[in-house]
Amino acid sequence: MDLPNTIRVVQSAVGVESDGKPGPETWEAIRSQICPGTESELVSAEDLASPPSSLQTTDRVDDRSEKVIATLLPEVQPYARALVSRAAQHGITIKVISGLRTYDEQNDLFSQGRTKPGRVVTKARAGFSNHNFGIAFDIGVFEGNKYLDDSPKYKAVGVLGMDLGLEWGGNWKTIVDEPHFQLRPKWAAEMPERDMLAELRTRNDSGKAAYV
Ligand SMILES: [Zn+2]
Repeated sequence: MDLPNTIRVVQSAVGVESDGKPGPETWEAIRSQICPGTESELVSAEDLASPPSSLQTTDRVDDRSEKVIATLLPEVQPYARALVSRAAQHGITIKVISGLRTYDEQNDLFSQGRTKPGRVVTKARAGFSNHNFGIAFDIGVFEGNKYLDDSPKYKAVGVLGMDLGLEWGGNWKTIVDEPHFQLRPKWAAEMPERDMLAELRTRNDSGKAAYV
């Protein structure tokens, strides 16, 4: 049987027009029969503030991660836990090692390598990092108890995070930041990063929630 004929047979078996040209309809029909219960659509911006039901787990992860996860906004916490669990399912040990940074902590970090000793570790002053609003966290890859600051596993975890609906710092153009993940609020779906940060600062100053 040649390929177009094979495709026609598959198309008729999955119940779409058997024209021998597999388009989105054919693929969707194949997907729903081969992988029932899965979603083919990418997570839309509207879904971001309410995590998929698979994320609504209360399962705690390791103590070190939990301490950091507790500093994140409640909307972000299930994503952080899910990322730790998913990585473990793929044989990768990660821990959440950095979460919320207060404005004071951010300014302190900013002064490092500038007015204080050490190397420069951030370009962001207080209010200019997503970490200042509890919507971002950094992970570390571990082998046993050993922290790895450079490993190809960061990229693998990045893919898992994007799959959950998180933004991954490994995709950034200016400063690639593979350990970094953040949950973009739906109102910021189409916004450049700096506009999102400006709105987050305004909300923070006026006591308005980040994810409303
Ligand atoms: Zn970060």
